[in-house]
Amino acid sequence: MPPGAARKLAILTCMDSRIDPLGMFGLEPGDAKIIRNAGARVYDDALRSLVMAVHLLGVRRIAVVHHTQCAMHNPDPEALAAQVSASANGVPCPIELGSFPDPMSALRTDLARIGDCALLPASLGIEYGGFLYSVETGVVTRLL
Ligand SMILES: [Zn+2]
Repeated sequence: MPPGAARKLAILTCMDSRIDPLGMFGLEPGDAKIIRNAGARVYDDALRSLVMAVHLLGVRRIAVVHHTQCAMHNPDPEALAAQVSASANGVPCPIELGSFPDPMSALRTDLARIGDCALLPASLGIEYGGFLYSVETGVVTRLL
């Protein structure tokens, strides 16, 4: 199996164990690059992986897939940081956890980060979109 993505696709999705990133799109191993983190957020490390996928592994389409019942969908990000700190025996949490009170706003922000990445210029013709995976039904819906 070659190292590239046969379908020229990268899927960025949440680390939630209920999600099968290939299965949700009816794909097979070798079809797509899979990038996962808490909340499917586009921070520097996700961009690093996307840049590598585009420039070294043939990716030309990027799907950012958020999901229903995501633990990162939290109306009070400070409360989540406090929960992490309490679990760490009171050590303050200096990490931006990436939780979000508004899923659509978070998805727009994530797509804008891809669009604003200088190493992913529009001139390359890279397509990207925002999706929602329902853990209740297994259906993926394109939102943006
Ligand atoms: Zn999640």
